[in-house]
Amino acid sequence: MNSCELLKNIKPPSEDAIALRINSAAEREIINGSLWLYENSITRQNKPGNPGDTAVIFDKNNRFLAVGLYDPASHIRVRILAIRTPQKIDKAWFRDRLRKAMQIRKPLGWNTDGYRVIHGENDGLPGLVIDRYAKIIVIKLYSIAWIPHLPGWCELLAQDQETASIVLRLSQKVQSQSEYLYGLHDGDVIYGERFTPPVLFLENALHFRVDPVHGHKTGFYLDQRENRQRTMKFTKDASVLNVFSYSGGFSVYAAAGGARIVTSVDQNSHALKDADQNFELNRNHYPHEDCKHKIIQGDAFEMMNEFVRESKKFDVVIIDPPSFAKREDHIPAALNAYQTLTNFGINLIKNTGLVIQSSCSSKISKAQFKKSILEALHSQAINYEIILETGHPLDHPVVYPPSEYLKCIFFRVNNQ
Ligand code: SAH
Repeated sequence: MNSCELLKNIKPPSEDAIALRINSAAEREIINGSLWLYENSITRQNKPGNPGDTAVIFDKNNRFLAVGLYDPASHIRVRILAIRTPQKIDKAWFRDRLRKAMQIRKPLGWNTDGYRVIHGENDGLPGLVIDRYAKIIVIKLYSIAWIPHLPGWCELLAQDQETASIVLRLSQKVQSQSEYLYGLHDGDVIYGERFTPPVLFLENALHFRVDPVHGHKTGFYLDQRENRQRTMKFTKDASVLNVFSYSGGFSVYAAAGGARIVTSVDQNSHALKDADQNFELNRNHYPHEDCKHKIIQGDAFEMMNEFVRESKKFDVVIIDPPSFAKREDHIPAALNAYQTLTNFGINLIKNTGLVIQSSCSSKISKAQFKKSILEALHSQAINYEIILETGHPLDHPVVYPPSEYLKCIFFRVNNQ
């Protein structure tokens, strides 16, 4: 294996597991599917532990309850990997989880080589995300518990001949815990050849450029793939507005679906530059080869407001903002913001047209999101039809309910 110098100093996890007793509330939660054991639920611990050590949790009758990875620097002290049946957590165990995850993604087929390989909790690996962009793999860690397991994961992922390089991305929290990182940094190439971004990959036979080293998340919003594909069906000959466009995912699909003109709005000028490049990259896929792409840098709310004042109209409006509710107390303001965006969307539609509106706030339920959209439609006394209500794509499965976040509603409005 072409292993990277950077991983050589990492101390492997201890051979001896830590034994933990926990309170009965936490015991019930684990039996009911919780994958997080908080530090304040631990009532007894046989020895101190290092990040990534195996922790075995016993129930009140001293029987095996669960096994997970220990994180001494997080309130989530153990991320649970398996319950009820004792298991040895080693490379073979991780290989098995990886195989299961790959099986789920098989239907993606040859024309999509950018997808999520491991979706954390939902693939039974809490705190670990792995994305693939063609030959580049990105490992994103949300807990230092995964650091000692990195060499093993690199070996597993490098067994796939398709893997040229592996990039390490670290959550803000992990980045701040430098004493546990063995000199590793966000964006390090931890296996294979160094490369200069962008990387090219395929999504439903369309081409995209991504920067896995510096981009948002791991570089691309892979989670919207299925919604982008659904959008194509509604953009024949259309004029399309895509607000919060990022690198133009929806814009490209809109043009591939036959749009005549697409406008992408984002506050980030780098994202817009990428959007324009992605748009040009796919021009030979567009039914209207001369499909125009307008990019506008600015605040989406202000721009939509301005468009309404100027009586600009579109056939399709796509609204895919960032998460507005990171905490419970953000929920009311977030719902308000969604409703404001719906109102703008409705007012920017020609006589009849389609609004595609998404929310990626896990704190906001599908029902709350839908209610905020319906309230806007009712308050403007609009004739509407809900065409589609969608959730997570195949490579972002939801097995662990608290991690559900993505919802999207496609609705037709009739302003005549
Ligand atoms: N739809 C995109 C992902 C959108 S991510 C895709 O399919 O890839 C959210 C985007 O919203 C980011 O690019 C961010 O720069 C942008 N953004 C956040 N707040 C904004 C605002 N107030 N106005 C305009 N863009 C904003």
